[in-house]
Amino acid sequence: MTRFIFVTGGVTSSLGKGLTAAALGALLQGRGFSVRLRKLDPYLNVDPGTMSPYQHGEVYVTDDGAETDLDLGHYERFTGVPSRRGDNVTTGQIYSKVLAKERRGDYLGATVQVIPHVTDAIKEFVLSDSGGVDFVVCEIGGTVGDIEGLPFLEAIRQLGYELGADRSLFVHLTLVPYLASAGELKTKPTQHSVKELQSVGIKPDIVICRCERTIPLEARRKIALFCNVRPSAVIQGLDVDTIYAVPRAYHEEGLDSEVCRHFGLTAPEPDLSRWDYVTGRIRQPDGEVTIGVVGKYTTLIDSYKSLAEALTHGGVANNVRVKVNWLDSEIFEGEGAIHQLEDVHGILIPGGFGERGSEGKIAAARFARERQVPYFGICFGMQMAVIEAARHLANLPDASSTEFGPTEDPIVGLMTEWTVGNRVERRDTESDKGGSMRLGAYPCVVAAGSHLHDIYGADNISERHRHRYEVNINYRDALERVGMRFAGLSPDGELPEMIELPDHPWFIGVQFHPELKSKPFEPHPLFTSFIEAAVAQSRLM
Ligand code: GLN
Repeated sequence: MTRFIFVTGGVTSSLGKGLTAAALGALLQGRGFSVRLRKLDPYLNVDPGTMSPYQHGEVYVTDDGAETDLDLGHYERFTGVPSRRGDNVTTGQIYSKVLAKERRGDYLGATVQVIPHVTDAIKEFVLSDSGGVDFVVCEIGGTVGDIEGLPFLEAIRQLGYELGADRSLFVHLTLVPYLASAGELKTKPTQHSVKELQSVGIKPDIVICRCERTIPLEARRKIALFCNVRPSAVIQGLDVDTIYAVPRAYHEEGLDSEVCRHFGLTAPEPDLSRWDYVTGRIRQPDGEVTIGVVGKYTTLIDSYKSLAEALTHGGVANNVRVKVNWLDSEIFEGEGAIHQLEDVHGILIPGGFGERGSEGKIAAARFARERQVPYFGICFGMQMAVIEAARHLANLPDASSTEFGPTEDPIVGLMTEWTVGNRVERRDTESDKGGSMRLGAYPCVVAAGSHLHDIYGADNISERHRHRYEVNINYRDALERVGMRFAGLSPDGELPEMIELPDHPWFIGVQFHPELKSKPFEPHPLFTSFIEAAVAQSRLM
């Protein structure tokens, strides 16, 4: 029997609903239950793929090629359960589906309305394809009180009623701010937020209060009284120093036992030793390395969420703290800035789009190659490293990417046709921006005897992609002659997936996004190896 836990948020955004859902999933798993995590996003975009990283942070890509909310990354990192397309839905998708049905005449002449047609489509999504797990934890994006969230709240209200209390539970996350002038923690915003939730017919079973300071017992009792919940169901969510401390913190506050109590379940206490191991290493590392990440969206770190986590995981694997210098690539287009790379122990160029800043990335890749500094190019970062080598090693000064306009030497170009399974995918420059990319998991064959083969310890791998352009295989010979090795190719040999420089201590480019699959307990081998190389570099400096 699948039980459904709905997580809503009030007072403000950015309270960590996603992490709370992920941590709760992990705690239930720790008690021996199977879980799936889902997210309902009330915005009108069909998916976040077309949103600027400044607006929405990272786009998290699943194996089955969906472009989803970054919270799905937390879910996967915390529970190890691979996310799927069906784990994230937006208002845009719900309405597209309802409108398509209306056009087909499926509603048989009915007036199509938010209730019941839109809410039915939302309910169908929540209930579908849960795979018979013990718990589906379903996070509702946005903040209670937002207009666009109303159909979602109405849908989960109905579900609560239809499933009954023994199959559904409502968790509401709020903020208990500390007012310095009053010298007090304030419970009023929580009371108001719960009132708002109750006005749409949802009575929370558990209220989680995010706070910077410990909430006194007295205040918790007050929240329980005003919000109509048991005192033990008022859970304190005190700020912690690392996100990997969240599961233990919630466990100690009694979150998972409160959930079990609600459903009348007895289950063993979760074993949190692997979380303790990770937080222990994060808190007390044996040394530190600095990685320069040369990108475009460096002012909003959420744009590189999975990347930042994967670097931390690489640090955990090597027992060092990874300090990241987020550097705007455009600075390297002017004179004299390149020296800023002199103090870093590794240079990473992450995924990116568009010409702006690309020359700065090429300059950074050149610095790494010439100065023998460990270099990790991810997606755009691989493309820039290949263009750099083509220009400065293979004597192709006009080498460029067709992403930036027509070029004589399209080292990186738009692939217009390739095969997915037994289906041929076609693209052209006019294709819709939403969904015109190579997305999701693709296999890659790793060249025997390569550095990458040592790192992966495998002949065949699968990694997740999100890009329109590809390194042009026609330049392979020219580049291999000057020392760049094409160490990973698509099974048909047409698409270069990984490159390396055998004469460099650590210079690797990959066309996919390995950061999406890294987990605290299972750091991605490329990040483990990159940080190991950075440690070696730090000893030379
Ligand atoms: N802009 C490049 C492309 O579309 C790289 C994309 C990326 O780094 N994810 O191919």
